[in-house]
Amino acid sequence: MDLIVASHNENKVLEFKNILGDKFLIKSLNDLNFKDEIPENKNTIKKNAVYKSNFIYKIFKCNVFSDDTGLEIEALNNEPGVKSARYSGEKRDIKKNIQLVLKKMEGLMNRKARFRTVISLIYYGKEYCFEGIVNGSITENPIGDNGFGYDSIFKPDGYKKTFAQLSMNKKNKISHRALAINKLIDFLKKN
Ligand code: IMP
Repeated sequence: MDLIVASHNENKVLEFKNILGDKFLIKSLNDLNFKDEIPENKNTIKKNAVYKSNFIYKIFKCNVFSDDTGLEIEALNNEPGVKSARYSGEKRDIKKNIQLVLKKMEGLMNRKARFRTVISLIYYGKEYCFEGIVNGSITENPIGDNGFGYDSIFKPDGYKKTFAQLSMNKKNKISHRALAINKLIDFLKKN
């Protein structure tokens, strides 16, 4: 089955392709040569995900899903949350975003955090949502080179390594995105 993933983020697309494997033919926006940016200006992760899938559905009229992800840090009142991409400004500079998080967390003992992904699927014109959450903690410094985004400062519970120290295969077995995708796969199998 053909499924469009409404994202320009090739790191995410790679994770989606890795998890969904050969069960589905995943087409990214780059595969479709669609270059326009999709606005992300809603005030919740879910609303952003729903907006993105609808935006692409209206253009391609094809089964499509999008994800929106945020890092929620308990001691920062769940920030950066929906602002994760632009925490330090409109340039979406991940190095600066990480620096800002670490600065705000300086000296804080409570380092609990979670990644939350919401996948919005438009399937034959109907809308469905799937959520994945992984709990963990924020490190004092970035560690590791794999992955992307905030992976280098997030240690999932039960692991001594950050997401950025795990292989993609390992991250994709336990991550917020994997949990949400597995719900998506279950849904597609049943329908
Ligand atoms: P968005 O879902 O593409 O809007 O991503 C929001 C922010 O979270 C961006 O800064 C991403 O780099 C970051 N992000 C999204 N998914 C992940 C992930 O799996 N690990 C680490 N950071 C992520």
